[in-house]
Amino acid sequence: MAQARESDDMTEYVFPPPQAPSVGVAGQKSRFPIRRIFCVGRNYEAHAREMGKDPTREPPFFFMKPADTALDTPATIAYPPETRNFQHEIELVVAIGKGATNIPEDHALDHVWGYTVGVDLTRRDLQLAARDAGRPWSWGKSFDRSAPMAPLRPVSEVGHPKQGRIWLAVNGQVKQDQVISDLIWSVPEVIAIISRSIALQPGDLIMTGTPAGVGAVKPGDLVTGGVEGVGELSITIA
Ligand code: MN
Repeated sequence: MAQARESDDMTEYVFPPPQAPSVGVAGQKSRFPIRRIFCVGRNYEAHAREMGKDPTREPPFFFMKPADTALDTPATIAYPPETRNFQHEIELVVAIGKGATNIPEDHALDHVWGYTVGVDLTRRDLQLAARDAGRPWSWGKSFDRSAPMAPLRPVSEVGHPKQGRIWLAVNGQVKQDQVISDLIWSVPEVIAIISRSIALQPGDLIMTGTPAGVGAVKPGDLVTGGVEGVGELSITIA
């Protein structure tokens, strides 16, 4: 078992530890350190239907991406290996600033530091093969550079967005276009539910799910998207 340490200052490592993963903050030099990235599956009815699933309000389910899959936008992202169906999913991202367990829904927003917009990049062929075989989704969802996102905006600037437009376009053609009030499970509900199972910590990000209209991208495509009142991003697929 790992031993508790009194101070990190004296710790010696067998090689230098990697830099803490982080995402930029709009208009600030300081960056937001990322601890974990939680992702909600099928959180818009029309997207659940397009994935061939019943959109009734069952309890939400989650998967995760490693913290170091996040990257700032604008970005150029190489088409990843082992897929022929590399897809976009535009999502509202919630940044947790104050951790806790068993957070009640009516206090959940007190734990939010800010928001941004991100893309849950997905190797859809690998994800669906895993899903249909009853295996984990990690190879379809949790690969390098799979979580590009715009700079975070603090709650003090953007409040708690509840109804703005969420959209994504490929080469200027709009593919995903809904409103975040279409979320099946709201931000406070998602925070409450996660915290009943895992202690939320400062630095955790929650990707809240994608609306309908997901689809494939190919090298050379320009992906743009945003959440009204929160931010916009752009990604070039190389
Ligand atoms: Mn997603």
